[in-house]
Amino acid sequence: MIPLWISSRSHTDIAAYRGEDRSIAIISARGLVGFYAHVQNNLKASTPTRGFNVQHEEFPLDLISMFGRSYIKRVGSFAIASSPGEPVHIWIAIVPIWFLMMLFAIAPTVWTIRYRRRRRRERAEGKLCLNCGYDLRATPERCPECGTVAEASA
Ligand SMILES: [Zn+2]
Repeated sequence: MIPLWISSRSHTDIAAYRGEDRSIAIISARGLVGFYAHVQNNLKASTPTRGFNVQHEEFPLDLISMFGRSYIKRVGSFAIASSPGEPVHIWIAIVPIWFLMMLFAIAPTVWTIRYRRRRRRERAEGKLCLNCGYDLRATPERCPECGTVAEASA
């Protein structure tokens, strides 16, 4: 995601899936990521190219001003826009890349803290060897890994 952030300062990256009457895309440019959906009600006018494709443009698209007239809600670099029309209806949600990076960083941090807490609790309860941390549920008297004899516990 960091390379994406650096690239987005001077380029636009688009990953898109085009279906028969709808398409979705993730667009990254100028430190922002846009989640884009496009529904076309008039199938006769739809594009014949279907499938997944990735585009890289040598200029940074300005997502905020591109969809500037159709904002439902905008707070700084966060925005939701909807452009209802016939035959095409477009939705886009824009968030800064740093926000996504933060989201992706929070989950592993929470998992690590929970894992450490659980280990500490299991150690305190005598389920793990106090010396090496080996699982003692099968052999509560003596650690088969390092030989430590468990202290007598109730
Ligand atoms: Zn041990």
